[in-house]
Amino acid sequence: MTDANPTPKEWYADGLRFECTQCGNCCTGPTGFVWVSDDELEVIAATLGIRASETEARYTRRLHGRRSLTETPGEQGYDCVFLDRNSVPGKAVCGIYGARPTQCRTWPFWPENLRHPRDWQRAGRTCPGLNHGSLVPIESIRIQRDGTPK
Ligand code: SF4
Repeated sequence: MTDANPTPKEWYADGLRFECTQCGNCCTGPTGFVWVSDDELEVIAATLGIRASETEARYTRRLHGRRSLTETPGEQGYDCVFLDRNSVPGKAVCGIYGARPTQCRTWPFWPENLRHPRDWQRAGRTCPGLNHGSLVPIESIRIQRDGTPK
């Protein structure tokens, strides 16, 4: 039997459009996880100007045996502890943008969003940056897709 609707491999070979609007939707919602490696913890700590052990204690929690950023309950769900809704009027920005973990850097080019065009469109329901802005080439998409923490 043949699949009437096969999933095209790298259906995004011509690139995908994406430009963040700084809405913050990807940093809030139902409780979730943002994995933080040892190296990433060090970078965040350096940005905050405190020790890695203090950063870990104040801003992370153990989840499934791994380290994840903590969340704070807000009006729109559970905000990432570093989501800053106050500094830029009308925007929600990352308070540690230059030090954000890989999982944040590779959004929205996560494998689960790229499996099928349907998955990409589904991600677009919460992320208004999808299908807008500049064209991200396949080479860049592959790097981000394959670099997303599993
Ligand atoms: S949901 Fe999309 S547009 Fe909004 S902050 Fe996240 S990446 Fe940017």
